[in-house]
Amino acid sequence: MTLKFDVVVIGAGPGGYVAAIKAAQLGLKTACIEKYQDKDNKVALGGTCLNVGCIPSKALLDSSWKYHEAQEGFAVHGITAKSVSIDVPAMIARKAQIVKNLTGGIAGLFKANGVTLLEGHGKLLAGKQVEVTGSDGSVTLVQAENVIIASGSKPIDIPPAPVDQEVIVDSTGALEFQSVPKKLGVIGAGVIGLELGSVWARLGAEVTVIEAQDKFLPAADELIAKEALKTLTKQGLSIRLGARLTASEVKKKQVTVSFTDAEGEQQMTFDKLIVAVGRRPVTTDLLAADCEVTLDERGYIYVDDYCATSVPGVYAVGDVVRGPMLAHKASEEGIMVAERIAGHKAQMNYDLIPGVIYTHPEIAWVGKNEQQLKAEGVEINVGTFPFAASGRAMAANDTGGLVKVIADAKTDRVLGVHVIGPSAAELVQQGAIAMEFGTSAEDLGMMVFSHPTLSEALHEAALAVNGQAIHIANRKKR
Ligand code: FAD
Ligand code: AMP
Repeated sequence: MTLKFDVVVIGAGPGGYVAAIKAAQLGLKTACIEKYQDKDNKVALGGTCLNVGCIPSKALLDSSWKYHEAQEGFAVHGITAKSVSIDVPAMIARKAQIVKNLTGGIAGLFKANGVTLLEGHGKLLAGKQVEVTGSDGSVTLVQAENVIIASGSKPIDIPPAPVDQEVIVDSTGALEFQSVPKKLGVIGAGVIGLELGSVWARLGAEVTVIEAQDKFLPAADELIAKEALKTLTKQGLSIRLGARLTASEVKKKQVTVSFTDAEGEQQMTFDKLIVAVGRRPVTTDLLAADCEVTLDERGYIYVDDYCATSVPGVYAVGDVVRGPMLAHKASEEGIMVAERIAGHKAQMNYDLIPGVIYTHPEIAWVGKNEQQLKAEGVEINVGTFPFAASGRAMAANDTGGLVKVIADAKTDRVLGVHVIGPSAAELVQQGAIAMEFGTSAEDLGMMVFSHPTLSEALHEAALAVNGQAIHIANRKKR
């Protein structure tokens, strides 16, 4: 028997589950296929983000930050916390419980919205048929009017450091350590490497990050990246730029890595090594040879600006297609596609996808950075405001970092908001909202911001764009 649906979604990560819920809400008969099984061999929804990505990493970042604060941040407030200790298995168990609550919540949302969950591996056949193979080998055929592929991504492996999930781990393994490694190596100073490196550094690991590129955080605004490198280094992360891993050897539960940098061949030994060199799209055994969906030259499913593949009625969203590998990007693409299938003229603003690195302080941005705008020949005005001048940041003893607002010199339209500092992710979202409505720096400057808040730093940076900041000396106009 072939099951029939208006929409079949392959993958229940933030791209797929959101698309499925939205499609069902729009009155479409919808199924979602998911194969991922948790440690209890039960299918768990939520994809990378909920199971082994955004959520568990933030749970550990929050736990480790509290420990770090109790150890080093309390004294200044006059608080003495004697013999603070960390129970790593309890911290990991708390994380696991949060994951369980959230993934179970998605199953509840599927039920509430009438989405049919099909457990198993989905493969797109010709003619918008999807074959679902259960973990017991049973095969079900599903016929869809529309298919949304949301199969996500997985960690890239590199031959010099084969992951064994014991001594050499990927991001998933790094969320499961049961004790704090004394010496931790991290390959890759990208978002994931810095976040996971921070977790274990805060708990006492001596962390070395080995990064092939000479430039730190090349996607960030240069001023913010410079501040981030200074701050993270001060926190004890040893970040070795221009260092390319060439080999590793595991012996007696330790790993010795070889890398080359400007000074030549180097070797270091660690108790654990996290390989965080990026992620690649998942397309294995996903597309039958005759299904006619094509990949681009980098192995992502080829889609247009509306996430339509080369086959009418077949769409792809999230990490498996071009663009930043971010949960919110995946979800918004899922919404756009569901709405388009339902006949709405939905589209997505790819220019305003915020990016966040959840270190402390957080690093976040939206829109374009100074070096991009200069390369495009756009004349800009820049306003910055340091948290060191924020009363709220002082009260919280969290004064590191700054807000930078970039506006078009001719129109004053805000083109980018870049923050390193406390609650940067939340502050940048204010910038994203303002920019979506085409705000000028002057508009932002004229708004009333509550006092005392961290948000005032955004207000002041917007005022500074036109030399009108109140709580910091304005730079003289050139
Ligand atoms: P995924 O979440 O990867 O989901 C794809 C799903 O499809 C999986 O459940 C998979 O099992 C299933 N699947 C694949 N193939 C098939 C098939 N053939 N049949 C059935 N099911 C299939 N992003 C952020 O925005 N913020 C963060 O803070 C953040 N932190 C992260 C931290 C870490 C450690 C990692 C690894 C990632 C993080 N990300 C973060 C990235 C984020 O997790 C991804 O961008 C997001 O999960 C992509 O969503 P997706 O739906 O495209 O794919
Ligand atoms: P991201 O793509 O943001 O997750 O970052 C991954 C980082 O890993 C990039 O900055 C890469 O330059 C870095 N990287 C990739 N391969 C290697 C390698 N062999 N040695 C060191 N760093 C690497």
